[in-house]
Amino acid sequence: MKHVDEYRDGALAKGIAAAIAREADPGRTYRLMEFCGGHTHAISRYGLEDLLPPQVRMIHGPGCPVCVLPMARIDLGIACARQPGVTVCVYGDLMRVPGSHRSSFLKAKAEGADVRMVYSTLDAIRIAEREPHRQVVFFAIGFETTTPPTALALKAARKKGLKNFSVVCNHVLTPSAMTAILQSGEPEGVRIEGFVGPAHVSTIIGTRPYELFARDYRKPVVIAGFEPLDVAQAILMLVRQINQGRSEVENEYIRAVTADGNARAQGVMADVFELRESFEWRGLGFLPLSALKLRDTWAEFDAERRFGLVETPAKDNPACECGAILRGVKRPSECRLFGTVCSPDTPMGSCMVSPEGACSAHWTYGRFRERERRVA
Ligand code: SF4
Repeated sequence: MKHVDEYRDGALAKGIAAAIAREADPGRTYRLMEFCGGHTHAISRYGLEDLLPPQVRMIHGPGCPVCVLPMARIDLGIACARQPGVTVCVYGDLMRVPGSHRSSFLKAKAEGADVRMVYSTLDAIRIAEREPHRQVVFFAIGFETTTPPTALALKAARKKGLKNFSVVCNHVLTPSAMTAILQSGEPEGVRIEGFVGPAHVSTIIGTRPYELFARDYRKPVVIAGFEPLDVAQAILMLVRQINQGRSEVENEYIRAVTADGNARAQGVMADVFELRESFEWRGLGFLPLSALKLRDTWAEFDAERRFGLVETPAKDNPACECGAILRGVKRPSECRLFGTVCSPDTPMGSCMVSPEGACSAHWTYGRFRERERRVA
């Protein structure tokens, strides 16, 4: 496939891997966090860890939107869907994320709640137009990548004069999560020498927001695309920065990411959203100024205000290690539920649901390699 195959070329990958092995100092460790679930998926799918020397270790980060959404927000969305006359629209990978008391959007739907899976924000708008007798709520999740489409949907709703459309806003911000990871001390925290920076998020926000991590925390960041050669090249660039004692923001994904990002998308977001004072992240807890809410000028479209939705504290399954995995402290195979009671068919935590989740990626690709390594 043109424009994809060249980023999956096995011979080139082996060449980059050889350069990493040559340049990585065997006398030290390189602990690199791939922030994005898309990178976690690529690393597992293409077996990139198998190409790395033992001193280079990849640590999975919290950049999977479904995974970081706390149970209390799932419960809130389900409570909204159970209200008479309300239709809640969600992206597909949210349907099976466990809420409290073994609930989920899928189970709520089976029990009669009107939950509908949509592929885009505009699908939700179309439902609101087609069914004016129902209150249509879009349950918005995601990092900076999916925030502009939500803002555009709200603008479309206002332009069309829709009175039956609103949004539960769960949009979160990447730099806040990176800061939280760097600020969390041992034993909860994890030692990281550099970041493989997000791909799609960076097309929106650009490379500048990461300068803080290079300057103040002395952590190099290399923005990378989601193809295997992108990730391998980013790892090589990080190894070189660390060897040379540099901490800079470098951009491997120059075909899509610029220093300033997408000004138009940023403008649309700023029109509609403002910072929340605090928001709970699964695994990271409550983080200040880490998420967005609708501005007062958009209050009429805010489902939390319209339906008086209130978050109730909720506790994860105590045996589920999603929190530690999202902080990079544990790996999926270190959870005792992995592959026993927890699998993609019966997910016990959010990390097993989305293909971008570390547990799901490891279940689909990594566990076979682990077994092969043990046998060898
Ligand atoms: S394997 Fe399942 S229970 Fe364990 S951390 Fe992953 S999602 Fe949670």
